[in-house]
Amino acid sequence: MMLGLLLARAGVPTVVLEKHGDFLRDFRGDTIHPSTLELMAELGVLETFLKLPHQEVPELRAQIGDRSLPFADFRHLPTRCKFIALMPQWDFLRFLAAQAAPYSTFQLVMRAEVTGLIDERGRVVGVHATRPDGPLEVRADLVVAADGRASVVREKAGLRVQELGAPMDVLWFRLSRGPDDPQQTMGRFDVGRIFIMINRGEYWQCGYVIPKGSVEQIRQRGLETFRSDVVRLAPFAASREREIRDWEDAKLLTVRVDRLRRWYRPGLLCIGDAAHAMSPIGGVGINLAIQDAVAAANLLAEPLRLGRLTTDHLRLVQRRRELPTRVTQGLQVLIQRRVITRVLGGADQLAPPLLLRLFARFPVLRRLPARLIGVGIRPEHVATPAVAVGLRD
Ligand SMILES: Cc1cc2nc3c(=O)[nH]c(=O)nc-3n(C[C@H](O)[C@H](O)[C@H](O)COP(=O)(O)OP(=O)(O)OC[C@H]3O[C@@H](n4cnc5c(N)ncnc54)[C@H](O)[C@@H]3O)c2cc1C
Repeated sequence: MMLGLLLARAGVPTVVLEKHGDFLRDFRGDTIHPSTLELMAELGVLETFLKLPHQEVPELRAQIGDRSLPFADFRHLPTRCKFIALMPQWDFLRFLAAQAAPYSTFQLVMRAEVTGLIDERGRVVGVHATRPDGPLEVRADLVVAADGRASVVREKAGLRVQELGAPMDVLWFRLSRGPDDPQQTMGRFDVGRIFIMINRGEYWQCGYVIPKGSVEQIRQRGLETFRSDVVRLAPFAASREREIRDWEDAKLLTVRVDRLRRWYRPGLLCIGDAAHAMSPIGGVGINLAIQDAVAAANLLAEPLRLGRLTTDHLRLVQRRRELPTRVTQGLQVLIQRRVITRVLGGADQLAPPLLLRLFARFPVLRRLPARLIGVGIRPEHVATPAVAVGLRD
């Protein structure tokens, strides 16, 4: 959606295909990072954006057993907004779609599921999709796969994937919020358990992290045991655990961390999770996907507009975004190995890692994780112009 907006705004006719009928997916996290807010400012829409309901989080804390330790402080970032905004991602996507809608160069087609590529002499020249009213074929100078971690497009393109591995999956469910509940989104580490609660206004979006492949074992222990575990981790939610009526209410989200060796083929480019599926650790995957979109627009808008796109331009996008991706995934994999595996393995003494203790003790050190999470490596800026294209009424 971000790339669609930037390209359409720069005068490149763009079609965005989305397989669902709305943006109401709850599987993608809710974090809008300071760097993304900076991009909103560069697009001149920050003020309007911040009028949407959101929570501002200037500091991140980790709850280890009963201790709450601060580890990232966004208040010193060199950005206009010195906080992470928590906003349901469907509101964010709807906002971007509304910004793009006035451009006559922009078209959003909902309920259009891409099922295959149109390949002519080794070059991708479009996609096949299905819509409720029948098949759809879209031809284009460039197809961009932004279809997430289970990308059909990258699979159809036969691009090689390097698996980096993830030791966990997540059971994802909702509990209603009570008037006396805490306000803050929170994450809690306990012996053998990691539990995340995201404040979405009327309800908590909960993530119960489990060792990869252990869902059957958890189901066999029974729903009652699972509900008691939830109450132990969030005692204020006692009596609401019955809202998890059956296992259908606790959806399994599969975590994967992988990366394509080559992000492109003639006529095709992958960005976001389709190029590099991110772990939920640090809540940075959305930020990386957005940054990829901005870099792609900066490098591709002009050659696309002039009809001079070559595969070398696509190579430049990978070259620009590969380093931030590798470093971020490297850190995620390190935390997965050093912290997540240990905690989920049930280490009976849950001592905070040394680094976390140092962050808690020396506030100045908290600026480093804030920078990595809030801005990331090699932040992108909107360099595409807003060319005068016919605006719709
Ligand atoms: C449990 C969990 C929690 C997470 N929490 C966070 C967090 O708090 N913060 C954060 O930054 N990151 C988080 N992440 C990572 C984050 O979700 C991803 O990195 C990010 O969503 C990637 O964005 P994307 O646009 O590439 O893909 P997605 O957000 O997955 O979007 C892909 C889009 O493509 C559509 N689509 C898929 N297939 C097709 C098709 N065939 N045809 C047409 N449309 C299609 C989908 O409907 C979807 O709208 C989390 C990940 C997990 C697993």
